[in-house]
Amino acid sequence: MDLAQRVKNSIRDIPDYPKKGIIFKDITTLLNDGELFSEVIDYFAKKYENVDFVCGIESRGFIFGAAIAAKIKKGFVPLRKKGKLPYTTIAEKYALEYGFDEIEIHIDAFKDIKNPKVLLVDDLIATGGTAEAAIKLIQKIGGDVVAAAFLIELTFLDGADKIRELGVDVDSLVKY
Ligand code: 5GP
Repeated sequence: MDLAQRVKNSIRDIPDYPKKGIIFKDITTLLNDGELFSEVIDYFAKKYENVDFVCGIESRGFIFGAAIAAKIKKGFVPLRKKGKLPYTTIAEKYALEYGFDEIEIHIDAFKDIKNPKVLLVDDLIATGGTAEAAIKLIQKIGGDVVAAAFLIELTFLDGADKIRELGVDVDSLVKY
């Protein structure tokens, strides 16, 4: 069975979480399978071994992003919810179903490397709002986002189109 199918089989659907009507894709069941988790990390690590940094979005993007970064021996940069990063940051707001949220990045995350090649990682892309905000932040501090990688893409929400409109390739392992 191919990797995508095995990943699909390992993901658990949680109905009505976090709210009624939403079917949440639970990836903890994948993380629990050491062999499969390791294969997923290797899959992305091989494709992006030439980037300079890996950026991960809080919080599940940290799990995959940090593991990929360590595998290819490149720096990991966290994009965090507002108020969590200790040093000087820039922030970007993005729309949620009701209201908005905000993520931040340290202004010196890419040190003094000019135009670093960056891989953005998150577990799942839905509307694309979170990844769009993340890409804007990375670009504002000088990063060149070569791709946005996701374990899961919910294609019916068209988030990938939003990301491609920013000139960034979308690479999702599993699509629903
Ligand atoms: P978007 O901004 O694309 O609408 O939402 C994507 C963000 O919400 C990601 O950071 C992702 O972790 C989280 N997310 C939304 N729905 C799900 C889900 O069903 N499963 C998981 N694991 N994460 C989700």
